[in-house]
Amino acid sequence: GYRKGGYYAARPGDRFAGGRYVAQRKLGWGNFSIVWLAYDTLQSRFVALKIQKSARDYAHAALHEIKLLSAVAKGDPMNSKCVVKLLDQFKHAGPNGQHVCLVTEFLGDSLLRLIRELGIIHTDLKPENVLLVSTINPAKDPVRSGFTPILDLSVGNQYGRTVISFSEKMLRMRARRAVAKISQRRVSLGGVLAEVEKERSLDGISLKCKIVDFGSACWADQQLSGEIQTRQYRAPEVIIGSGYSYSADLWSFACMAFELATGDLLFAPKNCQRCSEDEIASSGTHSKDYFDRYGDLKRIKRLKFWPLDRVLVERYNFTEPDAQGFADFLRPILDFTPENRPSAAQCLKHPWFN
Ligand code: ATP
Ligand code: MG
Ligand code: MG
Repeated sequence: GYRKGGYYAARPGDRFAGGRYVAQRKLGWGNFSIVWLAYDTLQSRFVALKIQKSARDYAHAALHEIKLLSAVAKGDPMNSKCVVKLLDQFKHAGPNGQHVCLVTEFLGDSLLRLIRELGIIHTDLKPENVLLVSTINPAKDPVRSGFTPILDLSVGNQYGRTVISFSEKMLRMRARRAVAKISQRRVSLGGVLAEVEKERSLDGISLKCKIVDFGSACWADQQLSGEIQTRQYRAPEVIIGSGYSYSADLWSFACMAFELATGDLLFAPKNCQRCSEDEIASSGTHSKDYFDRYGDLKRIKRLKFWPLDRVLVERYNFTEPDAQGFADFLRPILDFTPENRPSAAQCLKHPWFN
C-alpha cells in the first residue's frame, strides 16, 4: 500500500501538475495505481487522475500505458471509439517517490462493451475495466458543494441520437427496481446492471461505455508476457501457454457477457495448493501440467457436459428463445481453438447484438 514505491496518499483538495488539477474523491484502485476524480482548473472540467505506484516497474508500466493510449488517440481523433481518452501526463513527487500520473476523461461505473483497436490486445478485459461514460456537473463548485454525479446516456432510435442525463441517485433507484424484479435469482452487481441495461434497451436507450486500464495491454506483434489476463477470464491457450492473439480478448469478452447476463462467473477457478500460479509460471509451456501423454485431462477424471443453452434455461430461467440466441452468440467465441473464434467485427454483426 502506502509505502516506498507504493501508492500516493492523496487527499481531497490536493493539487497536481503545478496546481492545475484538484483532487476530489477516490474513484477506484488497482494493483498499479489509485485513480482520483480531479477538477481540471485550466479546462474547467472533471477528469480521472491515475496516480501510479512509484516503484520503477510501475513507472514503466505507466509509460507503456501512455504509449498505447496515445496510439489509440492518434488513430481516433474524434474520440468516438470505446477506449478511454488520454488527456495529459506528468510526474508527481511524494513521500514514497516519483509517481507517473495519467489524466484521462472521467468515466463512471463499470460495465461492458468491446472494441478491438489498432492491433492491440487488451489482455485484461473484465467487468471492472469497462466503465460507463459519465460526466458530473462542472457548473457546481467541485470542492465545496458535494456535487451530484450525472450519467450521460445516449438515446437512440432509427431517427437519430440524443444524450440525456441521469443523476446517480436515479440510476440507483432504477437498479433497485431491477433487483426487486429478479430477486428470485442470485445476481451480482453485474447482473443488476445488465438488468438495468435491459430495462433501458426496452425504452430504446443504450449505455455507452469505454475500456480502461491499458497498463498490461500489448501490440499483437510485441507481446510482453505469457501470463496475461485475470484467472476467471483467462483463455485456454494462455493457460496452456500455446501463444495468444486478439482472440484471447474475445474469450474474456464472452466470459464477461455471460457474467453480466446471469450474475455468475462462467468459470470460477478454484485455488489449489499443488497448482499454484508460481508453479505454472515457472514451467514454461504448461500443457503437461494439465494433460497426460494421451491428451486426457490430468486432474479431472470424468467431465460432465451441460450445454450452454440448457444452463441458461435450467439454472437461470432464460426463455428458450433467449437461451438459444445468447448461446448461439457465445458458443463460437468460446471455441477452444483461438483461430476458430469470430473477430470482434464479426461479433458485432451477430443477430443477438441487434
Ligand atoms: P489493475 O490492477 O487492474 O491493473 P490499475 O492499477 O492499472 O488496475 P485501473 O484499472 O486503470 O488501475 O483503474 C483502477 C480503477 O479506477 C478502475 O477499476 C475504475 O474503478 C477506476 N477508474 C479508472 N479509470 C477511470 C476513469 N477514467 N473514470 C472513472 N474511474 C476510473
Ligand atoms: Mg484495472
Ligand atoms: Mg492495469
